[in-house]
Amino acid sequence: KFIRDLATKRVNLVLSALQKRNPNEQEYLQYVSVVTRSLTPLLMKDLKYVEALERLIEPERVFTFRVAWADDNGIKHINRGYRVQFSSSIGPYKGGIRFDPKMNLSIMKSLAFEQTMKNSLTALPMGGAMGGADFDPKGKSDNEVKNFCHAFIAELYKIIGPNCDIPGPDINVGTREIGYMYGMYRKLTSQTNGTLTGKRYNWGGSRVRTEATGYGLVYFLEYMLHDNNIPLEGRRITISGSGPVAQFAVEKLIERGAIPLTMSDSDGFIYARNGITLEMLKKIMYLKNVERGRLEELSQIVEYHGDKQRPWVVPCEIALPCAYHNEIRRKDALNLIQNGCIAVAEGSNISSAPNALKLFKQHNLLYAPGKAANAGGVAISGLEMSQNSIKLKMDPQDIKMGLKGIIYNIFEACRTAAQQFGDNDFDYSSGANIAAFLKLANCLFDEG
Ligand code: GLU
Repeated sequence: KFIRDLATKRVNLVLSALQKRNPNEQEYLQYVSVVTRSLTPLLMKDLKYVEALERLIEPERVFTFRVAWADDNGIKHINRGYRVQFSSSIGPYKGGIRFDPKMNLSIMKSLAFEQTMKNSLTALPMGGAMGGADFDPKGKSDNEVKNFCHAFIAELYKIIGPNCDIPGPDINVGTREIGYMYGMYRKLTSQTNGTLTGKRYNWGGSRVRTEATGYGLVYFLEYMLHDNNIPLEGRRITISGSGPVAQFAVEKLIERGAIPLTMSDSDGFIYARNGITLEMLKKIMYLKNVERGRLEELSQIVEYHGDKQRPWVVPCEIALPCAYHNEIRRKDALNLIQNGCIAVAEGSNISSAPNALKLFKQHNLLYAPGKAANAGGVAISGLEMSQNSIKLKMDPQDIKMGLKGIIYNIFEACRTAAQQFGDNDFDYSSGANIAAFLKLANCLFDEG
């Protein structure tokens, strides 16, 4: 009781100090308070965990930088680049690069913290980071994207390296962008050392990297459903997004006999009432990955809903958000619950807004947080780093098995921590936070 009171006071002090230091970072403050709440059973056990929390929530280093690039008419533009090197306790900083016009430092820090927890769960030696720019690639020519990537890496290269910080793909940054960046990185440094992951295979990339996040998401979902005696086969599933995460989640769902119903982009969503078929998925992949087109262009072959509508109005049993942070808001969660949804697994990072999470909890939905469910991507990035540093390629079969094993271990870690610390309030999400945080805290204790 005494320790509990003391710990509660101390946690409140830590959170108010954070608020004072970052008065304008609403997203970050909210993110930290959600995570802190789920860590309560641990924080109440020993004050040393509160001290670890205080230390962890202040990123080790934060960089912002100017990116000046020219469009096809020779006109110069300025964007802001970011790299939040959040924690290097477990290994070199590791995390994606995101191009998103809505990006700001507060969101970046939340994503970097999330990445740090995720990387901790993978059990691979990776610290956490996140970066990117407020650049909007929509409507830009290939040449303009190349110019931007070159200008961006010409600033970022100063603070990254194979044993320091290894950026990877994220929203709007895929093999094309990583290729442009890695090409310029090699020119600037004369080093071919694998400092970026998500490279194309012939450049030192890893097999299964592109598929890893989507496949891993479905594996995690399967483990969670199995744990609750629910089969995946035959389930009607809504998916948002149409990038690699959504594409390969849909592919794996089809293979498992589930029924993926929707995919989306920022303009609207497609709805295949009898399920997206492999043939349809191939067309979607060609449209998105080769032609870089919009889903609306498929309205001849599949039902399309425009006006920026989201797929969460479609009745389903399971929802897989694979698009953007906070993409499931309270009203989306209400829709899902009213329409009979029983499980949500996050392919995107921080997919569900805090008040949506509350509803999931109230209605006992099975909820797989992104830091656990979508960790397959960064896990295979970790294997790409290993392959680059020993200058060998792993057998694709071994990588596939490795992915399944890593996801299984993450699932077990979440379940075990939830059982151990859940105070009769079992959920995979607090399990994930506790398991990830415990490992980070122990590293901090060892550091002294
Ligand atoms: N952006 C991915 C994630 O959210 C992975 C980043 C990486 O491979 O470094 O986990």
